[in-house]
Amino acid sequence: MAPSVLKLPFSNSTVRVRLIDTTAVLTVRAESFIEPAQKGQETMNMTCAAFLIEHEPSGKKIMFDLGVRKDYWNLAAMIQERLGKVIPSLRVDRDTSEILVEKGISLESISSVIWSHYHWDHTGNMSLFPSSTELVVGPGFKDSPALLPGFPEHPDSPVCSSDFRGRQLREIDFKSNLRIDGFAAYDFFGDGSFYLLDTPGHCLGHMCGLARTTAGDDSTFLLLGGDICHFVGDLRPNPTYLMPDHIPAEVLDADPAYFPSPCPCTLFTDHHPLLPHGADLDEKKKTPFFRVSAHEKSAYVDPPIAQESVDKLLAFESSPQVLVCLAHDKTLHKHLPTLNEDPELTLNDWQERGWKEKCRWDWLNELPRNGKPGRKPVVEGFWRDGKPWDRSKVE
Ligand SMILES: [Zn+2]
Repeated sequence: MAPSVLKLPFSNSTVRVRLIDTTAVLTVRAESFIEPAQKGQETMNMTCAAFLIEHEPSGKKIMFDLGVRKDYWNLAAMIQERLGKVIPSLRVDRDTSEILVEKGISLESISSVIWSHYHWDHTGNMSLFPSSTELVVGPGFKDSPALLPGFPEHPDSPVCSSDFRGRQLREIDFKSNLRIDGFAAYDFFGDGSFYLLDTPGHCLGHMCGLARTTAGDDSTFLLLGGDICHFVGDLRPNPTYLMPDHIPAEVLDADPAYFPSPCPCTLFTDHHPLLPHGADLDEKKKTPFFRVSAHEKSAYVDPPIAQESVDKLLAFESSPQVLVCLAHDKTLHKHLPTLNEDPELTLNDWQERGWKEKCRWDWLNELPRNGKPGRKPVVEGFWRDGKPWDRSKVE
């Protein structure tokens, strides 16, 4: 699919965006997330990003996603049951609320927490926020008998009622006529500085954020992807950003047993998962490596709709004005400044700093190459209080 030219709306209003490494790391079974899953990449590494968004004209601070709650053993029963079965490994060192407070951001100052969607690896622990912090969810949440009234009142609900009890629960509707490049949109502050986008396919009410990071005609944006897809290999390479003939040495993990120097792109394109071995090299250099999983155990409730959302996202990925940040992209924490390191550092000057280019090819490290497996697991087994934890002993 040829990417279209984006028609991003004009505004002179921006938000200040900071990235938080929520400290959650996990592995998941690749077949549920990408297609085709390959030998040597049976599991996928994931980190969890959250974003602090500050709207200076109103003085409001909001959060987009929270990662995983530190005491994940208190998640709803149906989630606990899935851990170990579909999630082989998980470690969470901090609650995002702790990180905020430690860096001088009071929880009272957070007026809203937006969940990109209601899944446990994005919802954090809302009960640690004061009741003045509203919770913002996507369309359909409030009317879903599968979710409300929440666990434990609803024994099979995946969400904890303690996350919304006693606070305003606001559901976004996308019924206005505002559309941004194929997605229904909601102007969160009413001035074009921050939009929510209706991005269906992964689960009920999934939303992305679109934050304007610089103002005016040539505005730049961060597309906060949540789980619109789970791996940037669904978007890269593409007809705008072709895989280079040689992968820049600084991109690849330092491991001479794995990578020749210089490293030709054919190390990867020869095993393009979606194209036959004999396909044209130029085609392989511009075709995304994966699609969203349509496996019987797919993490996407509606894989064809999810793929449609990803196809639309490709136009954003292809624009030099937009940096796409998927929630589980490990690359973000490697190359972008985090609030964890320095609370003053924002992502707003991402374009000037060349961070889009810097982040582009790191995902190749995750792929199998030359018959050897991809990057090692980011975490092995379950961890509790900084130590390995045998969950089977408590079950
Ligand atoms: Zn997720």
